[in-house]
Amino acid sequence: MSEGPSDPDRRWQRDLQRGVRNAAELAKFEERAGELEGDGAGAVGDRFKVRIPASYLAHIDWSDPDDPIRKQAIPDPRELVFLPGELLDPIGDEAHSPVPHLTHRYPTRALLVPTYICSMYCRHCFRKEAINDEGTGFSMAALEPALAYIEAHTELRELILTGGDPLTLSDLQYAALRERLEAIPHLRMIRVHTRVPVSLPTRVTPELITAMGSSLMTCVVTHFNHPREISEEAIVACRRLREAGFMLLNQSVLLAGVNDRLEVMAELLEGLVYKLGAKPYYLHHCDLTRGVSHFRTSIEQGRALLRGLRGRISGLCMPEYVLDLPGGDGKVPIGPSYEQAHDGRRWCFHTWAGGLHHYREVLPSAGLGTLDPDGSR
Ligand SMILES: *Cc1c(COP(=O)(O)O)cnc(C)c1O
Ligand code: SF4
Repeated sequence: MSEGPSDPDRRWQRDLQRGVRNAAELAKFEERAGELEGDGAGAVGDRFKVRIPASYLAHIDWSDPDDPIRKQAIPDPRELVFLPGELLDPIGDEAHSPVPHLTHRYPTRALLVPTYICSMYCRHCFRKEAINDEGTGFSMAALEPALAYIEAHTELRELILTGGDPLTLSDLQYAALRERLEAIPHLRMIRVHTRVPVSLPTRVTPELITAMGSSLMTCVVTHFNHPREISEEAIVACRRLREAGFMLLNQSVLLAGVNDRLEVMAELLEGLVYKLGAKPYYLHHCDLTRGVSHFRTSIEQGRALLRGLRGRISGLCMPEYVLDLPGGDGKVPIGPSYEQAHDGRRWCFHTWAGGLHHYREVLPSAGLGTLDPDGSR
């Protein structure tokens, strides 16, 4: 197979090679770009992994110090500021990990982490500590205890591949893992949580699509956080995923200074549906990960944002705003409540437009209502 520059399906490898692959390369890159913030960022690069594909770097507007693409990719000295109350394992992956590489918190679905490698290391990542500690890539042998656990737990229906990024596996590695999962009779769905369609969309090649094709229902959950991440390449990647028949969803993280303004979030959510065909699934409140407080909004701010979106954008574009509780207690929906008051069957609701609506429930309870011989109501 040709690997020359004219072969379009090898573009992703060049995209990685020409990008920033570690902290040392970032320092050189910033020097070339005339960036002066390098001092603090260098120390961050020693502590947390750095990798940015060339195509993602190309979307940064260097004239804007608050550029939302830059904030997600370029280390910031504030990542070394750890606040009391922040956690090493913010959502309790460890609390429900019976064997390495697996987290089983809910009865019917489990997470499998086939690799801790990502195509880009997001500055806001909630697993950044695990990603740092477990530098290793994929090995089927390392997954055997997790696969045996999945085989033994017949209540499992969905197997969620996460990481790290499962689409950083080679086509052959992915296909081998998929075949192992297909042979487990109680599984119904493979869910793939990936940022590759955002950070390295050229990786979604026809060969990868073939490797992902499965007798099991396959759902791909992308991770777009800003409308400017919906690039031409990302559109192509998502079209390929949909044309292959995969269910396409997106989860975003609410990030201060990136997507916490109503106009930006509305444009992101509409872009997901109208340009990518990716249904917004969860909007995650920023976790208690150490060193990401500069990305954190308050829950009240998140609720106000959700209230502003309701009715303004299509219901198809609305995500569910959730908080993943520490210690492995799971996700709770924290979106705004529209209930203003409630007394028995009498309710008062806030309307999307800011009014109040008094509503009375009508139920077929004994003793209420009368027979209506005309059948009219
Ligand atoms: C988020 C998560 C899931 C998936 O939850 P859904 O609500 O089904 O999307 C499963 N397991 C763990 C450990 C999770 O953190
Ligand atoms: S791709 Fe996902 S796991 Fe990897 S660094 Fe980004 S948020 Fe973390």
